[in-house]
Amino acid sequence: KYKAKILQASTSEIYGNPLEHPQKENYWGNVNSIGPRACYDEGKRCAETLFHDYYRKHGLGIKIARIFNTYGERMAQNDGRVISNFIVQALKNEPVTVYGDGSQTRSFCYVSDMIESFIKLMDSDESFPGPVNLGNPDETSILEIAQKIIQMTGSNSKIIFKNLPSDDPVHRKPDITLAKKVLDWEPEVELEQGLVRTIEYFKKMIS
Ligand code: UDP
Repeated sequence: KYKAKILQASTSEIYGNPLEHPQKENYWGNVNSIGPRACYDEGKRCAETLFHDYYRKHGLGIKIARIFNTYGERMAQNDGRVISNFIVQALKNEPVTVYGDGSQTRSFCYVSDMIESFIKLMDSDESFPGPVNLGNPDETSILEIAQKIIQMTGSNSKIIFKNLPSDDPVHRKPDITLAKKVLDWEPEVELEQGLVRTIEYFKKMIS
């Protein structure tokens, strides 16, 4: 009615357990449609479909952001994601729970960089509906993250290994060539810098 632009917060999960590395927007993904993560992955994939149907049929001003792993202040302590789990565990000197052997990788983007990319995406030309990958291509193994967080918090925590959840993607890293070109954006905050800020936040939260 108001010809409003609309953002879809899509996700790197639409690539499933990707067989291409790093992931470009034109990769169609590898999702197990009946697995335990599928409700999220397929839900987001279906949302992208509906957004593009409305764009084609009604010229709706859509913007699809494929958001890769993001972290920073104001994460919930208990939402189960890896950075918040590890920092809270390390600050409490509790065991740090690595799932699997920790060789799986993710690429973590600091929240302020992500927000900047949303603003640029919403301000981009109306002829650009996306999808566009938004994330930091700096790839790290989960074991490395655990070790780094223990060291940065000066914690006495030990690493323990737990079962890897099924369909946990082995590698994930965005190709952000498109975002650089169309949005003139790339992340600026390095992992170490972002972790310092996030650790400070959680210290205040749990003290
Ligand atoms: N993970 C872990 N320990 C935790 C929480 C997560 O080893 O306490 C692993 C998880 O198996 C995955 C990675 O860290 O390989 C990232 O998990 P998260 O849930 O943060 O994001 P996603 O899997 O959606 O990328």
